[in-house]
Amino acid sequence: MNKDLKDKTLQDLEKVVVALGQKPYLAGYLFKFIHVQNGREIAGISTLSKAFRTQLAEQEYFISQLKVVDALTDRDGSAKYLFELADGERIETVLLPEEERMTLCVSTQVGCPMGCAFCATGRIPLRRNLTAGEIVDQVNTVEEHAGRITNLVYMGMGEPFLNYDAALKSIRILNHSAGKNIGIRHITISTSGIVPGIKKLADEEIRPRLAISLSAPTDTLRSRLMPVTDKYPIAELLEAVRTYQAATGQRVTFEYVLIDKINDTITHAHLLVKLLRGLMYNVNLIEHNPFTGCEFTGSSRERIQRFASALKEAGVETTIRFRMGRRIKAACGQLQAGYHPRKQAKEM
Ligand code: SF4
Repeated sequence: MNKDLKDKTLQDLEKVVVALGQKPYLAGYLFKFIHVQNGREIAGISTLSKAFRTQLAEQEYFISQLKVVDALTDRDGSAKYLFELADGERIETVLLPEEERMTLCVSTQVGCPMGCAFCATGRIPLRRNLTAGEIVDQVNTVEEHAGRITNLVYMGMGEPFLNYDAALKSIRILNHSAGKNIGIRHITISTSGIVPGIKKLADEEIRPRLAISLSAPTDTLRSRLMPVTDKYPIAELLEAVRTYQAATGQRVTFEYVLIDKINDTITHAHLLVKLLRGLMYNVNLIEHNPFTGCEFTGSSRERIQRFASALKEAGVETTIRFRMGRRIKAACGQLQAGYHPRKQAKEM
């Protein structure tokens, strides 16, 4: 059993506390200490008796803590944190401050197995999944540096639906009213298109927002950009979205990374509108960010505006996400955490 108390929901903590012969309400004190006060040492939980703290320590319970190896700030206000995990692996987390919001982009895996051709992280082989505690601690640690996090996006390193249980558990912890209490509608989980994950989320009692990275309107083109298409073609992906919407009534966001003359023509925009007809959705257009070894060039702002206009004229709610953190390699698709990239597995 994982003895990291940060990795546990309030219910899990109650089980731990009761198993040690204590009253269940003490779990609330533990949860608050870890997630509201960002406490790290069991010995520092003054609301628990010394005897109980000793008992926890004797049973080898602990509160994990990510190590901040580096923190870089861009002049646009964004910041990138390089964390070292207990086993020496590394991940990156990005803070995106915007007016009233403090959005944190968290990682769910070390590396990523999905191999999206436009993403630097996709060149880092998957090394392992993160625990829920390690996902939660990205929030806790950045809060200590930068203040309260209001919004979360699961769009950092890794594919959240390939680490489904830990990702959902971390959302339960971070959303809980006795802890960080980050509103569920302020949490977005983003997938490259893992169909079983979308269907599973449809059955959850907890409902974060769902975003899907699409980036192409046809299987042929998407397969070139996102190899996941070979396993889950677009028709199957959209069928899962229909199932999700039938169960939840919720709108989804489709993300579309714009690559110069590859997927950014007006014809692509029209095909996209046709493809998504009948769904409740909005589109986020994302500027492609350069990285060493990438064969693609991002679309110019003019081409992005043209693409956006074509969608808007067709009645699609469209937002352009101009890149933040590009100078510190913190923008979308740029996270590598200092690992050496492999060559692209699939020849383009
Ligand atoms: S875009 Fe997301 S899923 Fe694709 S390789 Fe990058 S991190 Fe992985």
